[in-house]
Amino acid sequence: MIQFNDTKIAFAWRSNSELVKAKVLFKTIAWPALVKVGSAMLNLALAIRFPISWIVKPTIFKHFVGGENLAESNKTAQRLLQYNVNSVLDYSVEGADDEAIQEEAFNEILRSVQNAKNNVSIAFTVFKPTGLISTKILEKVSNSQELSQHEISQFDLFKQRVKTLCEQSVSSNTPILVDAEDSWYQKAIDDVVTHMMKEFNKEKVFVYNTLQMYRTDRLDFLKAAHKDALAKGYLLGVKFVRGAYMEKERARAQRFGYPSPIHPNKEETDKAFDDAQQYAFEHLDTISIFCGTHNEQSIQKLCGLMQSKGLQNNDARITFSQLLGMSDNISFVLAHSGYNVAKYIPYGPVRKVMPYLIRRAEENTSVKGQTGRELSLIRTELKRRKHQHKLKH
Ligand SMILES: Cc1cc2nc3c(=O)[nH]c(=O)nc-3n(C[C@H](O)[C@H](O)[C@H](O)COP(=O)(O)OP(=O)(O)OC[C@H]3O[C@@H](n4cnc5c(N)ncnc54)[C@H](O)[C@@H]3O)c2cc1C
Repeated sequence: MIQFNDTKIAFAWRSNSELVKAKVLFKTIAWPALVKVGSAMLNLALAIRFPISWIVKPTIFKHFVGGENLAESNKTAQRLLQYNVNSVLDYSVEGADDEAIQEEAFNEILRSVQNAKNNVSIAFTVFKPTGLISTKILEKVSNSQELSQHEISQFDLFKQRVKTLCEQSVSSNTPILVDAEDSWYQKAIDDVVTHMMKEFNKEKVFVYNTLQMYRTDRLDFLKAAHKDALAKGYLLGVKFVRGAYMEKERARAQRFGYPSPIHPNKEETDKAFDDAQQYAFEHLDTISIFCGTHNEQSIQKLCGLMQSKGLQNNDARITFSQLLGMSDNISFVLAHSGYNVAKYIPYGPVRKVMPYLIRRAEENTSVKGQTGRELSLIRTELKRRKHQHKLKH
């Protein structure tokens, strides 16, 4: 069993003042009412273009975001690399329907993939499909609805952009992850990403799709995808996550009167996540695993499987990943034990990453025990440092 409570290793990269600020931050977002009011106020400030940088940048932004641009985020990645933690720089601008903003996002993501070339701190690159195309078009394609001429050209442009990013990943020799969002337009994304895997995952896995295991259909999807990969001779790359949009999915299913696509309870999501990873592990010759979770039990299970099969901790087919600002006790302890770890480092201008930050605050409020766990680890480390300081003087 790996001990995830070694706070000395977990927070070696954080200064005392950073830890104190993190403590205040987690104490603040532990209050659901405060997060609700704070999120509403920030959304309002964004809508009326009220300046927010002065309050957001030194606090929540600094904790959860790598920087406003690639240069700043590369510095964060360099800091992590000193502790054998690699990075995934994630341009975290979400769902814009504006075509000029989509083009801007594409150019920035392309720069981030180019930035990975010969950059030892960057293990993967990543993008959110909804930053590149309207979700309305993705939804229509997913439902085989007829598209207008303009929508057809937009969807063609999307496919071309995804292909360019995958080609650049190959030339940067760094795999690319494709994030997943809402189930009602995921099919269009799955089809495009599958096509990319067929084209680029011949000898090595360059393209990874994301499976949200809170969805009841994803284990079957994994098995079908694997069958297709075997039949057509390509490798599968899978980023496993539980899924971030549960409330929204359930609310929509209820509103439109279809069965919820989400498992009815946490236990079933946990089981689906572990079963899917076990399935992938049993077919490691043809499936590479990117394990995106803060759940210690799931990580222990995967490490246990690796140990039982006598795999090296740094087997290139398995990578563990957590988000910047969360679960450093997992990332840094795994990296210290020689496992492949790639921290997701969101970046972007303060205003543009606000939806991401609001979700992080809400998640840390709603995910049972997560904030308490972060706070107690930070407190333990601060106490440990104080005690050590006293011993020295
Ligand atoms: C590196 C990384 C990349 C990520 N990329 C994506 C992505 O591309 N797309 C995406 O959607 N999310 C993504 N996420 C977020 C992820 O889906 C989870 O929301 C988040 O990580 C919390 O889940 P957990 O496994 O870490 O922890 P846990 O705390 O063990 O699990 C919490 C999760 O369990 C599920 N859950 C909780 N309660 C219930 C319930 N009552 N019934 C059913 N299920 C329940 C939900 O999915 C919830 O988020 C990513 C996370 C990481 C670490």
